[in-house]
Amino acid sequence: MNLKEMNQPIAVAQLKKMYLNDRVSHAYVLDGPRGSGKKELALFFAQLLKCEDVVEGEPCGVCSSCRRIEEGNHPNVSYVVPDGQYIKKEQIEQLMHQMTRKGYEAGRKIYMIEEAHRLHPSAANALLKFLEEPEGSVTALLLTDSYHSMLATIQSRCQRVMLARPDRRSYMERLMTTYELTESLASTVSQLTFDEEEAVELSQDASFLLKRHLAWQFVTKFEQAAEEAVLFLQQEWANEVKSKEDLATVLSLILYIYRDMVTVKVGNDTILTYPDEKKSLEKYAFRLTYEQLSVRLDAILEARRKVESNMNRTLLMEQLVFNMQEG
Ligand SMILES: [Zn+2]
Repeated sequence: MNLKEMNQPIAVAQLKKMYLNDRVSHAYVLDGPRGSGKKELALFFAQLLKCEDVVEGEPCGVCSSCRRIEEGNHPNVSYVVPDGQYIKKEQIEQLMHQMTRKGYEAGRKIYMIEEAHRLHPSAANALLKFLEEPEGSVTALLLTDSYHSMLATIQSRCQRVMLARPDRRSYMERLMTTYELTESLASTVSQLTFDEEEAVELSQDASFLLKRHLAWQFVTKFEQAAEEAVLFLQQEWANEVKSKEDLATVLSLILYIYRDMVTVKVGNDTILTYPDEKKSLEKYAFRLTYEQLSVRLDAILEARRKVESNMNRTLLMEQLVFNMQEG
């Protein structure tokens, strides 16, 4: 993906302006959905900050700095990605060691942390001090698609740059024509990622299709009776939803079911996540009040936020069932 394909003119302009006005901060959060071009934007900014021949706020792309950043081997630019579920404290300690080590090229140092919402609390704490008082000229670029799962203490020390949500309709068209996804699958996966490759993988992943099914089963049971949902959680559910990631995905899929109900109830032409379930959606949309729908949506959002904490997964879901009933 190049800058043009990334199609994030506002975020690019924002970063350029800070560079041109000599107002580059210690730390940024680049916040955008999966596949919106955060990594490309981070590389663009790193090149801009290190380029030897900037012209009108654009890195040249051909100098030694630009090329080494593109190839991922500039000595002043470091990268951190989660090691398993988390970014671990040792990774941050190693990063800080790299950042303060002598023998670097002169000038600004830059580090990028991908999926920054996966910083383990101990890693986040280690990072905090460094975000506040970096030694020398350092710029941090924290990338996330889940800004609200980040610690507030991290958020408050970073300047937030938001990437625009890519156009979903044209993206779905591409998934259907280029990759032959069905409309219903293209609708669902396009809610979860704007990364084409990832979307195609999801659409072919049996466990994802099962999660989509589980989400609907949960909603169907719950709308029959809360006790049904609890029984369901104790039986089929527990065998299939094994990790934090599983739970986060299924909760998102449940959230989109209720969002679809709202869309159907309001009658606007937002793209549904589950066009294949239109009949059921209409049935529920007719039966449930806006008040009830909004209580359910709030409860699911709250549950999704709790996934990152280490709360017991069954308990979290049972609480969800309880909270969804209010109103
Ligand atoms: Zn350059």
